[in-house]
Amino acid sequence: MVQYKNFMNPTEISLVIPLLNEEGNINELLLRLRSTLDDLGKSWEIILVDDGSIDNTFQKIRLFAKEDPRIIGLSLSRNFGQQIALIAGLHEAGGKLIITLDADLQHPPELIPRLIEVQSEGYDIVNTKRIEHQGTGRFKKWSSAGFYAILNRFSDVKLEPGSADFRLFTRQALDAFLAFPEKDRFNRGLVVWMGFKQGVVSYVAPPRTRGKTNYTLKRMMRLGLDGITAFSSKPLRISAYLGIVTTIVGLLYMIYALIAYLTGHTSPGWTSLIAVVVLLGGVQLLCMGIIGEYIARIYNESKNRPLFFIKDNTREPLE
Ligand code: UDP
Ligand code: MG
Repeated sequence: MVQYKNFMNPTEISLVIPLLNEEGNINELLLRLRSTLDDLGKSWEIILVDDGSIDNTFQKIRLFAKEDPRIIGLSLSRNFGQQIALIAGLHEAGGKLIITLDADLQHPPELIPRLIEVQSEGYDIVNTKRIEHQGTGRFKKWSSAGFYAILNRFSDVKLEPGSADFRLFTRQALDAFLAFPEKDRFNRGLVVWMGFKQGVVSYVAPPRTRGKTNYTLKRMMRLGLDGITAFSSKPLRISAYLGIVTTIVGLLYMIYALIAYLTGHTSPGWTSLIAVVVLLGGVQLLCMGIIGEYIARIYNESKNRPLFFIKDNTREPLE
């Protein structure tokens, strides 16, 4: 399914943007992107990936694509999630430099020239780092900080807090990135894992002005689990350690119980029994759950399903 379309295409800059129910943001997004890109004086294309929106996102994209062929819209067959939507768009991108960003204007388009400038200093990937969220809710701030703290504690790949999917790839780095066959994708981690020469640009994220965030706590937790399980088998090891520790404690307790029995000091012992049963039951379930998370991912990979389906592409029918 990997096809490098248009690799004869001389486009210099491709932007790839995933959108889920962003009809309210498209006008301003494209306005600001176009003026930024036109100022650069380079050829460009904008690939907008509609990730199964239920509002008029794709209809709007179609209108823009009709009047400007440099704007390309893809519509996925359903909601596949931001990470997969990005991949769908990246496969379509033909530029020499490829930049991914969010549609909700939290990744300021005006930062694009800076990314390109940093790349020209000799980088293959330019990441961005959100230094401060203007007007971000306290919950989002804490959950985001907690997200990175837990992830870095358990995962073997270290992530900078505040790194989002706003980054620049050179063609070479993107081809490497697209070579990952993984299904449960945690793009940020994969990028760190890839190597290459990576630079970073800091920016202040403005608040989302229209629409609402699509990342609920549940989605964050899923993404976090993907981030941990994709890069580390530490949780499996921890569950083994837990097993060892509880076994040792159990053995000691058994010795104690035997001595108590032999010396005739046996007591009713209901409380301690219940405590042990409950604790061991909990630890066992926890460990099985951890193993289950890995097995689920093995299962998912082994099915080897396509990552996504494209339902509509404004570039088709081809000329
Ligand atoms: N998005 C998407 N599919 C999803 C969820 C989000 O394409 O299932 C897009 C969304 O439209 C936005 C970007 O991914 O352009 C980031 O999402 P959001 O702003 O909701 O996340 P947050 O900034 O709150 O982390
Ligand atoms: Mg956002």
